[in-house]
Amino acid sequence: MITDTHAHVFWTDFDADRQAVLERARAAEVSRMIIVGTNPDTSAQAFALCEGQTGLHPSAGIHPHDAADHGEDSRELIRELCLRPACVAVGETGLDWFKAFSPREAQVANFRWHLQLACELELPIIVHCRDAHLDTLALLREFSGVRGVMHCFTMGERELAPYLELGFYISFSGVVTYPKNIDNRAAAKVVPRERLLVETDCPFLAPQGQRGKRNEPALVRSVLEHIAHVRGDDFTQLARATSANASLLFGLPDL
Ligand SMILES: [Zn+2]
Ligand SMILES: [Zn+2]
Repeated sequence: MITDTHAHVFWTDFDADRQAVLERARAAEVSRMIIVGTNPDTSAQAFALCEGQTGLHPSAGIHPHDAADHGEDSRELIRELCLRPACVAVGETGLDWFKAFSPREAQVANFRWHLQLACELELPIIVHCRDAHLDTLALLREFSGVRGVMHCFTMGERELAPYLELGFYISFSGVVTYPKNIDNRAAAKVVPRERLLVETDCPFLAPQGQRGKRNEPALVRSVLEHIAHVRGDDFTQLARATSANASLLFGLPDL
């Protein structure tokens, strides 16, 4: 059993064939997916999509790109969703200095609010970090005891250590399969097995071979194959281990 810990299957990219996408995932043994919200609307869509579907689990949060567009009302909607029993995590949220669609102050305030909520509700947090390594660490360190995952970890071995020290899980995406990303592969090789997760971040970041096309949960299989190869691990054992990690972090029921 494989768990895609970060999928945006609610987006319009999947409107034409959403059920077929989910069936293809299950046929590829990707029987569990975390459906990650990015603002109040998409978070509500994530919850609606997961309702009554075995193996689908929603989260709610405001993405750093959207931080400037959302104030108190949106936060109240996110809090309501996070309080529902189905919710497995707060996020995604975090800092993105690369695209910088929202001003830095708005992103920081947004991230801090989510960190507080995760601590208060004792839920894990799904962190998006792009070109904002040191600022992300500084904020995480403000909230002792916060648990979570560095989603789509694209950095190297050197940046990895402090997140492991904080007890965070590290999730790799299709980026790890791209030939030039030697540092990212080096990180995937040394992450302790009990902290390793895999994801698609679909519809983005399709693995090498499908690169540039729409990504979907079934393709997390090739991310896992690639990491197993890099680490010299057995594929089936690594699939089991990363799924067990996802169960532990997100409090998922057994399938
Ligand atoms: Zn992200
Ligand atoms: Zn995402």
